[in-house]
Amino acid sequence: MNLHDYGWSSAWDDAFARLAEPGLVPARVVREHRDACALVGEAGECLAEVSGRFRHRARSGSDFPAVGDWVAAEWPGGESRAIVHAVLPRRSAFVRRSAGTGGEPQVVAANVDTVFLVSGLDRDFNLRRIERYLTLAHESGARAVVVLNKADVAADPGHARLQAESVAAGKPILLVSAASGAGMGALRGALAPGETGALLGSSGVGKSTIINALLGRDALRTAPVREDDDRGRHTTSHRELIRLPGGGLLIDTPGMRELQLLADDTALERSFDEIADLAGRCRFRDCTHTGEPGCAVQAAVAAGELDVGRYESYLQQRKEIRHHRIEQDVRLQNEERKRWKAIHRSLRNHPKYRREE
Ligand code: GDP
Ligand code: ZN
Repeated sequence: MNLHDYGWSSAWDDAFARLAEPGLVPARVVREHRDACALVGEAGECLAEVSGRFRHRARSGSDFPAVGDWVAAEWPGGESRAIVHAVLPRRSAFVRRSAGTGGEPQVVAANVDTVFLVSGLDRDFNLRRIERYLTLAHESGARAVVVLNKADVAADPGHARLQAESVAAGKPILLVSAASGAGMGALRGALAPGETGALLGSSGVGKSTIINALLGRDALRTAPVREDDDRGRHTTSHRELIRLPGGGLLIDTPGMRELQLLADDTALERSFDEIADLAGRCRFRDCTHTGEPGCAVQAAVAAGELDVGRYESYLQQRKEIRHHRIEQDVRLQNEERKRWKAIHRSLRNHPKYRREE
């Protein structure tokens, strides 16, 4: 197995050299399980768990290996099990908060170079949704490409493209039909060999159909991997990081399909850069653009220079982002409290500190 086929490049060499202790090898995570992950490396494929030290040091769920991650692993020759010692610093990451564990952040896709923001040009077409996905893309660090699918059934594809441009200024916009194949060459070309892509979009916009078209066959979840289950039997499961015929790579994890708007204000401002520009001219530096005197944003809405739908979309996203951030802060505080309790407890039990009775 050649690592370059999975996106390895000299930039990763450096990152690896900085982290790896002798005996460790680089590998990429192609799938995640509850307590393990599947790796590809020069030796082939295997299942891996993180080392005890890794687990001990991890501060949050997002520290653990995720699909797309490059890791430094202990992988003795010929073994079908490996141990992950470190995750190489991510170039980009899509994060969600898991429902079960009190909103612990989890990386659902790492090291995505290009994220395709897919909309369907049927009744589903919704600019506000493109804006949300753009903010997610900005937050992730991946490059965004807007894909307008189902061009074959669009009433006015040209108009749709103009509308998309009005919210995604400067991003490539591709008009495609996964069903007929129109425009799919450009989509393929947007992912150079060795680059990693991912698709974001609501259910029904055609993501699976696009992936199948990129794969050039009719089964979405291809590339079966044989592995031992707990009872030592071989089971077949599927990669979530897949190689495309053209040499590109694609991450398709279930988590990508349920991303919430976890972002910071910088990502929001990049999605709404004209609002950020206007805000610089508000009378108050901490203007919330919701009723203050001398607000340049509201003035622009009143003058018809800023689309009111876009203004409302901005306020809505800001509200959600702040809401998530407050929840996050509460969670972090609770964790910190628990940590200190544990430290105090272990100090109390330590012979050196134990009070003489
Ligand atoms: P996903 O939920 O985003 O993965 O969407 P699917 O790939 O399952 O597609 C949803 C529906 O849209 C299916 O019935 C597809 O056949 C249909 N579809 C996908 N792409 C196109 C397209 O380019 N044109 C048309 N007319 N239908 C499409
Ligand atoms: Zn203002």
